[in-house]
Amino acid sequence: MKYFGAHVSASGGVENAVSNAQSIGATAFALFTKNQRQWVAPALTPQQIDTFRKAMERAGYGAHQVLPHDSYLINLGHPDEDGLEKSRESFFEEMRRCELLGLDRLNFHPGSHLKRIDEEGSLRRIAESINMALERTNGVTAVLENTAGQGSNLGFKFEHLAYIIDRIEDKSRVGVCLDTCHSFAAGYDLRTREACDATFAEFERVVGFKYLRGMHLNDAMRPLGSRIDRHSPLGEGEIGWECFRYIASDPRFDNIPLVLETPDESRWAEEIAQLKSIAGV
Ligand SMILES: [Zn+2]
Ligand SMILES: [Zn+2]
Repeated sequence: MKYFGAHVSASGGVENAVSNAQSIGATAFALFTKNQRQWVAPALTPQQIDTFRKAMERAGYGAHQVLPHDSYLINLGHPDEDGLEKSRESFFEEMRRCELLGLDRLNFHPGSHLKRIDEEGSLRRIAESINMALERTNGVTAVLENTAGQGSNLGFKFEHLAYIIDRIEDKSRVGVCLDTCHSFAAGYDLRTREACDATFAEFERVVGFKYLRGMHLNDAMRPLGSRIDRHSPLGEGEIGWECFRYIASDPRFDNIPLVLETPDESRWAEEIAQLKSIAGV
């Protein structure tokens, strides 16, 4: 089955994400389970948890259709002890929130070396941070997102993701989310069928589709290899519709949340409808 959706607002309460997803015809969605620009959030109350779980059930969404995203402040590869400690605690809290909400995966950007330690040192910290969070939680998979490689962000090469995964003790609870805009910005071409074949063959060779737990479907405003992360509506950027048709019709992308983070929210319903019609769902 193919599941399409968008990163919807959870403002006013996590349960609102469910109705926001439903209202645009989404069969998948992403959300922040807390304010993404703040370190701390009030704990989820038993009532909030219950309301969310009931809303999910009523709307017919399963955990495999949802891809929560963590806070942008977290840097699991932080070069400083204080920053690293704060990030690790906050990441654990986010994993715990997913667990309480009955969600089974948490999407995050791997981390940044901030030009103060080398890439490998930062990648090792990221792996260690994930191991620590997995040890303290149950049932939630840590889903590494590939990045555009802007600034000192790591995760823009499939090799970075593989390096981290290789160091995770429980490989059943680590996964990957591929963002099409980030892949393209990082230099992986997706403009034609042949380019998609080559890029995803490279992904299979270096990381493996068995780790794929979600996708972000975004067109890219900047050219191939720009290392700049700017999303466009589908078909209006440098990537073009061919890539999204490819993903919508390829079974390697079945049964995971395929989530839009395109800039114009008013077009999500239409973008989702187009993707569904290509996939025949
Ligand atoms: Zn993304
Ligand atoms: Zn992005």
